[in-house]
Parts: sequence; C-alpha cells; structure tokens
Amino acid sequence: MGSWVRGWLHCAGEAVKIMRLVFLGAPGVGKGTQADKAAVHYRIRKISTGDLLREAVRIQSSLGCEAKEHMDQGRLVPDSVVIGLVLERLADPSCENGFILDGFPRTVPQADALGKVLVERSLPLDRVINFRVSREEIVKRLSGRRSCPKCQATYHLEFAPSKNGGLCERCGEALIQRSDDQREAIEMRLRVYEEQTAPLIDFYEKRHVLSHLNGAEAVDTVYHNLVKVLATPQTA
Ligand code: AMP
Repeated sequence: MGSWVRGWLHCAGEAVKIMRLVFLGAPGVGKGTQADKAAVHYRIRKISTGDLLREAVRIQSSLGCEAKEHMDQGRLVPDSVVIGLVLERLADPSCENGFILDGFPRTVPQADALGKVLVERSLPLDRVINFRVSREEIVKRLSGRRSCPKCQATYHLEFAPSKNGGLCERCGEALIQRSDDQREAIEMRLRVYEEQTAPLIDFYEKRHVLSHLNGAEAVDTVYHNLVKVLATPQTA
C-alpha cells in the first residue's frame, strides 16, 4: 500500500485518485457489472452485499441461514445484519484507497448508518451513481439471467450466453437461475425497491453527491459515460 496526499494515493510512483462510491438502482440495472469494471480500472475494492450474502448462504454460516429465506422471496435482509456485514468490510485495509458499494445502502437506516461511520472516519462519499433502466427491460434482464453459484459470474440466455453452454466460462460450474430471478421474486424485488430503496435518490440528491446514468445502453457505453461522470466535478 502507498501513501496518501489530499485524496490521492501515491503507489509505485503513480498518483491514483481515492474514490468512495455508491452504485444505486433497481435490481437488474447493471450496477454489479459496472462496479466490476470500475473496481479494476480505478483499483478500488468492490463490496457487493448481494455477493457477500450469497456466499454466506452457500457456506451455510449462521448469517447465511438467517438471510436465505428473505433472499429467496425477494425481500431485504434485515438492516442490522447487512449494516454489520458492510461496516466490517469497510474497516478492512483493502478499502483504504477507495471502494464501490454495490447494492448498499438499500434503505434509509442503512444510508444513515453508512453516513455516520464515514463522518466518524472523515471519509466522505465522492459520488452516488443512480443507474436508470425501464421496468420492462429490468424484467427481461433478470428473468433471462443465469449465474454461477461458485464464482458469481453472470450470463444472459439471450444477450450474453455462456460459450460453455450451461457451464460457467470462468470455472466450469453448472449455471443456475437464482431463486430470486424467478418471476414472483422479481416482482417482489421491484416492489421492495420502489418502497425502500428509491427514497435514497432524494436522500443523496439533498447531499449533492448524486449523478444519474442511463443504464439501458450497451455495457461499454454505460461504462464510458460512467468514467466521464466520475471525471466531472460534482455541481451543487
Ligand atoms: P443483489 O444481488 O444486490 O440483487 O441482492 C440479492 C438479495 O440480497 C436482495 O434481493 C436482498 O434479499 C439481499 N440484499 C442485498 N443487498 C442488501 C441490502 N443492502 N439490504 C438488504 N438486503 C440486501
């Protein structure tokens, strides 16, 4: 790890901007895909609560057992569980040169808890990106999604099929349809998003850290626009 000077990390002779980002949006808008690309590009840590929870379910930890029922039905896992999980990760030294929170916060109490901890540590958020995609497109994306239960890679039956047929291109594991990508659970997740997560748009707009992005375009176009937005100073 390098040294810090005014929001820049100096590492192997190169100055890297420290970025603390939140990716917001309904399920299926492509936050995770964009977060993967940005984490590599900016050399910052991606923290996806969905991935952390799925891993806890997979290894059958006590947290996973508590989360499973909520996740299968498309409901949110209780704030107390998720907040603890994220704050523990944020304390990890790998987050010192920045992070992207993908799928967290999803409720106002989660956003309050995050804000409190970041203020205590003098680590303000640089930007919250709100990805927007129509409901019709989201349903199409989620219902055709296939996922690798082992390495979390995702595919789409129509838009991005695995070259290995029903197997993961990366690790060879059999692909599955997540239980929460089935029709009833998708409807529930979208309802939960509207009721509990959409109010965060206003929450972060008032704090002057929010930018909107059209998530309906091709992955590379969305990413190009994301990089442009992150390079533009936020206007109040
Ligand atoms: P995702 O992969 O982000 O769509 O998350 C999958 C599921 O994990 C969600 O439908 C919730 O059940 C649970 N989950 C993920 N992030 C959170 C969060 N911040 N708060 C509560 N539940 C969450």
